[in-house]
Amino acid sequence: MSALLPELIDRITSSGPLSIAEYMQECLLHPTRGYYATRDPFGAGGDFTTAPEISQMYGELIGLCVAQAWLDRGAPKSFTLAEPGPGRGTLMADILRATRSVPGFHAAAKVHLIEASATLRNIQQETLKGYVITWCDAVSDLPQAPLFLIANEFLDALPIRQFIREGAGWRERRVGLDEAGENLRFGAGDSTCIEALKHRLVDTKDGDLIELCAPARAISAEISQRIANSGGLALLVDYGGWHSNGDTFQALKAHAFADPLKEPGDTDLTAHVDFEPLAQEAQHAGILASGLTHQGVFLERLGITQRAQTLAEGLTENALDAHIAAHRRLTHPEEMGTLFKAMALFEKDTPPPPGFNPPGANSL
Ligand code: SAH
Repeated sequence: MSALLPELIDRITSSGPLSIAEYMQECLLHPTRGYYATRDPFGAGGDFTTAPEISQMYGELIGLCVAQAWLDRGAPKSFTLAEPGPGRGTLMADILRATRSVPGFHAAAKVHLIEASATLRNIQQETLKGYVITWCDAVSDLPQAPLFLIANEFLDALPIRQFIREGAGWRERRVGLDEAGENLRFGAGDSTCIEALKHRLVDTKDGDLIELCAPARAISAEISQRIANSGGLALLVDYGGWHSNGDTFQALKAHAFADPLKEPGDTDLTAHVDFEPLAQEAQHAGILASGLTHQGVFLERLGITQRAQTLAEGLTENALDAHIAAHRRLTHPEEMGTLFKAMALFEKDTPPPPGFNPPGANSL
C-alpha cells in the first residue's frame, strides 16, 4: 500500500471528498510522502523522460533562443534567468553551456530556480555546481528585474480542478472513498453555476468535462506583471492545447499510463496545459502572448536539424542510433512534435523570441 493512502483515507473520512486539485497537491508535494519529495522520477529507470533529458540539443537551442532575445532587447546588464520546476537541472545546465560564448550574457544573468522538492534541489545543485544559483519557493519570490524565464513540463504538474457540465451549471469531480472506505473513487458534487466557466457554456454540452488550473493562471499573471514592469520574456513549453475539453488528468509510472487513484504519491500526476488562460493573463498585464507553436516546428526553426547533423559527425554505431532517435522523438509529429506546444510571453513593441509565431495564430 502506498504510504500516503491511509492519510488520504483519514482526511476524506473526516472532512469529505477532495477536489482533484487537493488530491494532486497532496500526492505530488506532500513534504515527506509526496511523489516529488521522495524520488528522482526522470529517465529510463524512472517514470517519464522530458525533452532536456532526451538530448542536449533541446537546452542548447533554448539557450541560444533566450540569448538572441536578450540581445534583441538591448542586452540588459543585469537580469533574472529563471526556471520553475527544473527537474534534474539538465535544461539550465545546457542553457548555460550553450550561452557561454555570448559576450556579457553570463555576467548579466542571475540564475533563479523555483523548486518545491528538497530532493530535486539537491540534484540540481549537483548538476549546476560551479554556477551561482538562488533557489526560490514561488515565482512571486523572483526579484523585480528584467526576467527571462523558461518553463518546460512545469505547468502540467500544477493542480487542476475538473467540472462536468449539467444544464447551466457544473458538478465538480472529486476523489472520495468506495463503500468499504478502503479505496479511492471518483465522484462528483452538486451542480452549481460558476462565473469563471460562464464562457464555456457556449462550446460545451451536458456531460462534457472541462478543467481549470488556477495556479497556472496565477503564475502567468505574476510572470507577466514582472515582464510588463521590467522587461524580458517567458518561454512556456508543455503538452496541451488552447483550451480544455475532456478529461486529461493522468498518471504515469515506469513510462506507462496508470490509474491516477492507485498508489497515491507513487505515480506522477499531470494534466494537459490550457494555454488560453495564460495568454489572457499576459494581455491583462499589458504584454503579448505569441501564437501557439508545435514543439517540432519550434525546434526546426531554431535549427535542430543542423545541430543534429553537426553532433552526428562525432558519433558511430549505438550512440549515432540513439542520437537520431532523440532528434526524431523531440520533433516528429507522432512523438513529441505536435503534442507539445510552445508559447512565449513578451513586451509590446518587441519581436517574438526566435522560433515563435506572432500573436494571434492559435488555431493548431
Ligand atoms: N522541467 C524539468 C522537470 C519537469 S517535472 C524537465 O523538463 O526535465 C516538474 C518539476 O516541477 C519538478 O522539478 C517538480 O519538483 C517541480 N514542481 C512541481 N510542482 C511544483 C510547484 N508547485 N512549485 C515548484 N516546483 C514544482
